[in-house]
Amino acid sequence: MVWHFWVPYLTCIILILIVQEGHSKQRCLDEEPPLYSKEDNIHVVVGASLKKILAEPAMGKLVQFLNSYCGNCRRFAHTFRKMAVDLQKWNRVLRIYAVDCARLENVKLCRDFRITLTPTIRYYPSKFQRIRHGIGTDIETTIPSEIADQLIESLSENDYSESKGVKPIFDPIEPGNKLNDIYEQFDNKVTYILLVHPVDMGIETILNMLPYPDVGVRIIKDAEMFAQFGLKPCKQMVALLNRSGKAQLIKPAGKSSSAYVESVAGLLHQNGHTSMPTLPPAEPEYILSEGYDAFIVDYVLNSTKVLFQADLEQAIYQFLHVEIPKTAFISGFKFKALRHIIRLFRRFNVLNRDGRRMLNSLVNHLFEVTEITGEEFRDVVDDLQTRLDPIFAEQQYVGCLGSTPHTRRFSCSLWTLFHYFTVLAAQMKVYPPSSVTIGLYGLAKFFYDCKDGSMYFVKLAKRMNIAKVRTHDEEILWLWEAHNEVNEKLAGDASGDPRFPKVQFPERKHCPDCYTHSGEFDRDEVLKYLKRVYNLSYLSGDAEPHSRRSNECKSKKKYLQK
Ligand SMILES: Cc1cc2nc3c(=O)[nH]c(=O)nc-3n(C[C@H](O)[C@H](O)[C@H](O)COP(=O)(O)OP(=O)(O)OC[C@H]3O[C@@H](n4cnc5c(N)ncnc54)[C@H](O)[C@@H]3O)c2cc1C
Repeated sequence: MVWHFWVPYLTCIILILIVQEGHSKQRCLDEEPPLYSKEDNIHVVVGASLKKILAEPAMGKLVQFLNSYCGNCRRFAHTFRKMAVDLQKWNRVLRIYAVDCARLENVKLCRDFRITLTPTIRYYPSKFQRIRHGIGTDIETTIPSEIADQLIESLSENDYSESKGVKPIFDPIEPGNKLNDIYEQFDNKVTYILLVHPVDMGIETILNMLPYPDVGVRIIKDAEMFAQFGLKPCKQMVALLNRSGKAQLIKPAGKSSSAYVESVAGLLHQNGHTSMPTLPPAEPEYILSEGYDAFIVDYVLNSTKVLFQADLEQAIYQFLHVEIPKTAFISGFKFKALRHIIRLFRRFNVLNRDGRRMLNSLVNHLFEVTEITGEEFRDVVDDLQTRLDPIFAEQQYVGCLGSTPHTRRFSCSLWTLFHYFTVLAAQMKVYPPSSVTIGLYGLAKFFYDCKDGSMYFVKLAKRMNIAKVRTHDEEILWLWEAHNEVNEKLAGDASGDPRFPKVQFPERKHCPDCYTHSGEFDRDEVLKYLKRVYNLSYLSGDAEPHSRRSNECKSKKKYLQK
């Protein structure tokens, strides 16, 4: 008995100690490790430096613009990583970059480059200037072999005139060219010339032979021209010539550039030549959060709560400071959707008193204009915030924190915010039914940059007759059903959080009454449950004025002790 009496107190003391200990280890959102790294042959770019990078001469650049909170971008990460490691062989002419448009520092960059859906993959040639050349060339595929094909074409047309090392030469050999002329076009380090025919095979071989800087590769357009080098004309051929013109014929295992290169590499190896070192193959990343984050995740997983103040604030913060400001221009239906969403934010305010003031002024501003640029919107928000007391308290998620970097977070907080709004709408009855779901529809259609999520939800909303919601209770259930359909689609998906598997909500263990004897959902009980868990009184956290200081996270202690 005595032991039982002490258990809750001991648990509480341990919880407080861990939280206090964790306070010193907590990370801010901005310190999230990026999705890619140099070890993957991918350079992560932050802020304005991209424009300078793109202006570099003698180099093609492949840039992936992504949103780390999007499932499709995370799903694609392993493929892109693997491709980047494989393309390390082209490093002398190609650099690969990643820009995370979910980051505050990249808002302007993603707006300037007109990123509306992610992942967006673009190619940039040497000396690219945003003002003169536009936004780059879209690569409309995420299949590595197709990306590589487009790169081959673009890299073969690139300007290497200011190259510091040996320049690749993609123009075919001219009739009458002698071996000495060809050697002279390269620098002294070149000890072999590799002749390749036909042209397409030659272009790819030039790129694949870049790790061998002592081999100059030239294309033979017309097979007859092999005779210029004392060789027998042949439909498909590759020949290695040393400076004295002695040819070593190569017999590739297949009719592909990789087979050519493999055979040449074998021969060079025999002759004592080695290639530049390459990166080890990319492994799938699967890092579980540690320390303070892991503690929060454990807490949330063992709690019955679904609603945390920090997540609601975070959804609004990200929307106002990142998602809208990174939009170039907002007019027409898109503008109406924005106005509607900000009105919902104001009506069902989750921020402190100054937050409400800011939203009031923002709504007023949006009724004074008929269109707005993302930059103007950002200026208005910034201006209002400087005139008010600090509004946003937390820089981290709580109920929506992922157990691995990047999972859950913003997408989770959006769902949570809008479920909460549906329940508030039913209590307050100030807006017609379906106002909240229409708001989420507008957000998904115009301001949610994850390609598949946005398109899927728009289709789903039409299929589920979003406009036919007649009562507030129907609206709560509509969103619950729509969300469960997305959960079903994503169940077992590789982009998901390993500790938060996608299941039908609510789980039986949290709401046994929500299930009938036959295992179906009891909609009346589900409605009661949703009203209970997405309720203000169930909201963990307080609404005291807080400060959001850059590079400084506040403790989430108060959110957990309630
Ligand atoms: C409108 C929209 C459409 C999306 N479409 C896609 C898509 O097509 N592809 C894709 O990869 N990702 C999509 N996402 C993201 C995806 O749904 C998840 O948000 C993301 O994977 C994070 O998942 P999570 O584990 O945090 O839980 P989430 O699904 O984000 O749920 C957040 C919280 O809501 C509660 N919850 C879960 N289900 C319900 C429910 N039915 N009713 C009420 N509460 C519930 C739980 O407490 C859960 O922790 C979409 C997001 C949004 C906002």
